[in-house]
Amino acid sequence: MTQQNRRLQLDRDHIWHPYTSMTAPTPVYHVASASGVMLKLGDGRELIDGMSSWWSAIHGYNHPKLNQAATEQLQSMAHVMFGGITHTPAIELVERLLKITPEGLSSVFLSDSGSVSVEVALKMAIQYWQALGKPEKNRFVALRGGYHGDTFGAMSVCDPVTGMHHLFNPVLPQHLFAQRPACRFGESWNPSDIDSLESILSKHGDSCAAVILEPIVQGAGGMWFYHPEYLKSVSALCKKYDVLLIADEIATGFGRTGKLFACEHAGISPDILCLGKALTGGYLTLAATLTTDKVAESISEGPAGCFMHGPTFMGNPLACSIASASIDLLLDSDWQSQVTAIEAGLKKGLEPCRNLASVDDVRVLGAIGVVEMKNPVCLSEIQDRLVKQGVWLRPFGRLIYTMPPYIIDEHQLQKLTEAVFQTLQ
Ligand SMILES: *Cc1c(COP(=O)(O)O)cnc(C)c1O
Repeated sequence: MTQQNRRLQLDRDHIWHPYTSMTAPTPVYHVASASGVMLKLGDGRELIDGMSSWWSAIHGYNHPKLNQAATEQLQSMAHVMFGGITHTPAIELVERLLKITPEGLSSVFLSDSGSVSVEVALKMAIQYWQALGKPEKNRFVALRGGYHGDTFGAMSVCDPVTGMHHLFNPVLPQHLFAQRPACRFGESWNPSDIDSLESILSKHGDSCAAVILEPIVQGAGGMWFYHPEYLKSVSALCKKYDVLLIADEIATGFGRTGKLFACEHAGISPDILCLGKALTGGYLTLAATLTTDKVAESISEGPAGCFMHGPTFMGNPLACSIASASIDLLLDSDWQSQVTAIEAGLKKGLEPCRNLASVDDVRVLGAIGVVEMKNPVCLSEIQDRLVKQGVWLRPFGRLIYTMPPYIIDEHQLQKLTEAVFQTLQ
């Protein structure tokens, strides 16, 4: 057995991959290195990356500026605890985040992953109402088709059907779910879209802590792009019924939808904002939960006297340094033109898929392209075909979707969309 085959056998026998079986695993591809938009496989083949490693590698791989930030930070310290200690990388990152995020957000809680930043957001909302003497406001309203992560609190606000509610129902807190907005981004607005949420808030507002949603783009729960008027109306209803608004921008943040943050499409500011994924340009795991003075001060002056959360690797200096470098890189680049060009390329390249009998819908927003099939795809078969055509995508359910690094060029993008069309054909 060659060394390489031995390693792959070890992987197959002993390592879980995301959402996979240990007894009947789907094939895995061995990536030896990655640079720019390309993933290089152990056998020498090169693939155009259409996934940005799940929305995160917006500048591509092995970027000299991000490498430099990492190596420089390593010279002083990789990590130090955040309890009773602070450091420049965290301070500089928070300064940048406050400058670029929607207005009104003033306190930042750093954590290790997107799911944890959602747990933190939910806990902030609960502690806020406790502090205001309304502990009965402890339920959440979420949207059908939403996805907020895999930990318990996050799972409980994911779509109850496509999420994992059926498996964990007996141990999940029971929350309320509004219909997914039907009006698409870019089409005309129908005010009745908001009725489902309004009826929940008018009935249950007194027992609700917050509405949690992904602004404009619902990601892993169905890749659905909805009308900014919906988000505006939600923001207004949250004020009317006195519940907080939590915007989960873990997937949409840092330019992916054509705005730096998707909330900008509707000109709204949430009470709590979750960031993750592209925060470090895909280098390390890091997330942030931002909130307002009002929420932060209420929690701090409430019965607990503090916010009850504190991860071991909170504010990791290495991750913070790279995050600051990634934000600088983004703001110094012409990311808006890049995203606009990707949007045009995806529209043009994926449009022919619409004529295929197996395809139900094609939609594009910013640097996100989606082909929705009529039936679920066979993941291993379709992935094998895509790899043979030199592209890396990870379809799920009925969705073949792409969110490439912003640095992808016209030719690579064309190759990517052609591979999708050829494969589906
Ligand atoms: C990926 C994602 C999460 C979870 O983030 P992890 O880093 O995987 O824990 C939460 N919300 C949204 C919208 C996401 O896309």
